[in-house]
Amino acid sequence: MTFKELNIADSLLKAISEKGYHCPTPIQIQGIPVALSGKDILGIAQTGTGKTAAFAIPILQHLSQNNASFSVSQDTQEKKSFSRQENNPGKKYRKREIQALILTPTRELALQIGDSFTDYGKYTGLRHCVIFGGIKQLVQTTALRRGVDILVATPGRLLDLMNQGFVDLSSLKHFVLDEADRMLDMGFINDIKRILLKLPAQHQTLLFSATMPQSIAALSASILKKPVRVEV
Ligand code: AMP
Repeated sequence: MTFKELNIADSLLKAISEKGYHCPTPIQIQGIPVALSGKDILGIAQTGTGKTAAFAIPILQHLSQNNASFSVSQDTQEKKSFSRQENNPGKKYRKREIQALILTPTRELALQIGDSFTDYGKYTGLRHCVIFGGIKQLVQTTALRRGVDILVATPGRLLDLMNQGFVDLSSLKHFVLDEADRMLDMGFINDIKRILLKLPAQHQTLLFSATMPQSIAALSASILKKPVRVEV
């Protein structure tokens, strides 16, 4: 099996090949077609299996297809017009909206996932940012103000910035709950519920967990719609 046989777009295939990946891992072979079809996923996979690419690649593909105007060259033009906009506030420019949210329990995981989006998404023209607690929020709020398509976040800082009005999730299309069992072990369940309340009714959810205790089964049953179970 090759990435090309998984119907992945050329811009992503180029980035994947530059990353040195020759063939997809089992979680990618099972998960990518399901995620590309738009269905929800209940993924049982540990770190190290390649699960990040299993959700990041389909999200990048969905968003780059739906936002064809965000080519790399246009992104550069947009940067120029963004600075012009500040001198010309009357003129309208297309605003980026958060269309994918990846929730993950720790800063280290958030940064790793952000690096994956940087690597796989380098030819898509899409923009992401990573937000987590323990540091000043200014760099994060500046990136959010500038506009991102994809947000990678830990729950506490995300809620904090949502409450301050920096994050609008009303255009969200794809939601990933990464390391869900660890999230619950770390006591994030109420934060997750508060965040879920702010998501639009229609969106795709991809839930990944290394284990499947009763608490995860219950959470999955409440947030996933007819999920396809993917297990490695
Ligand atoms: P993850 O499980 O997402 O944390 O990924 C574990 C490691 O596997 C990371 O270092 C990835 O860069 C690497 N990886 C992911 N997919 C592939 C692949 N198809 N071929 C080779 N390495 C991969």
